[in-house]
Amino acid sequence: MKYSLLTISIKPTLARLILVKLRLVKLTFVKLAFVKLAFCCVLMMHCFHAMSVTQDQFKVHGLSAFENEQAKMLKDWLTQGVNATRDTLGVYPTPLALHLYPRESNQPVPWAYTRRDGKGSVHLHVDVRFGLTKFVDDWTIYHELAHMALPYLGDEYRWFSEGFASFMQYQIMAQAGLLKGKLVDNYHTKISPHLRWFNSDLTAASIATRLMDNQQYPAAYWGGAYFFIIADQLLIKRHSTTLTELITHYQDCCRTHDKNLADVVTSLDGILNEALFSRLLEQYENKPAREVYPENFE
Ligand SMILES: [Zn+2]
Repeated sequence: MKYSLLTISIKPTLARLILVKLRLVKLTFVKLAFVKLAFCCVLMMHCFHAMSVTQDQFKVHGLSAFENEQAKMLKDWLTQGVNATRDTLGVYPTPLALHLYPRESNQPVPWAYTRRDGKGSVHLHVDVRFGLTKFVDDWTIYHELAHMALPYLGDEYRWFSEGFASFMQYQIMAQAGLLKGKLVDNYHTKISPHLRWFNSDLTAASIATRLMDNQQYPAAYWGGAYFFIIADQLLIKRHSTTLTELITHYQDCCRTHDKNLADVVTSLDGILNEALFSRLLEQYENKPAREVYPENFE
């Protein structure tokens, strides 16, 4: 379902369900009138629900720094970004606070970050000389919003957090029909150049941490993203599900209570009833990286 700041749409599945029900019933005129009334009530109730969800889901700060037209474009962009993220990772239990700042650059979103104090917030520096399409096609918003699917994991697990957001940015874009080329090819292009760092007897976690400390960000981010490639493959094989489906479920059951990586891993394993994530993390922290990472991305 798409929620918008300005318009409310009806869940297609809900409308379909009601139409099917209508077809099944032999309707007299009176019955039809009653069903129409009930139909309107359902729609109205759904609209009220959708409206409250929309208003609670995200708040934009900093729009007054932009002209009206630009502010509208930015609002449309953020609405689309939140909707696309929600379609892939579920509805976050805590409303999102999105902060905008004007900045001239050679790209629409030259700088962005999340702050994790209190409820957490996303901060985006934007160059509004670029149009809506360029903003929507830019991966930054999906990456930053994906971060908010997990709690703050601390400096020690920055590789995990950045790996997660990097993996998810393409999942969100692919599901929204925005990713150019195949998902697997995009991962291949991003991850392959960095596999050589993991051809080592050191552990994958220590290598990813060192890459992060040395500010080798693409290597740290995409090297970390490989954790989630493995997790996704295991989930498909053993549980007939995907990482994005699992994370959607995680928002409902567990996100609010979790405070650190140990909590997250316990929750995910709890949903699966298998120690899949704790075992994989254990491998990352104890096994030689060359036994976890392939030489070539397959
Ligand atoms: Zn990030």
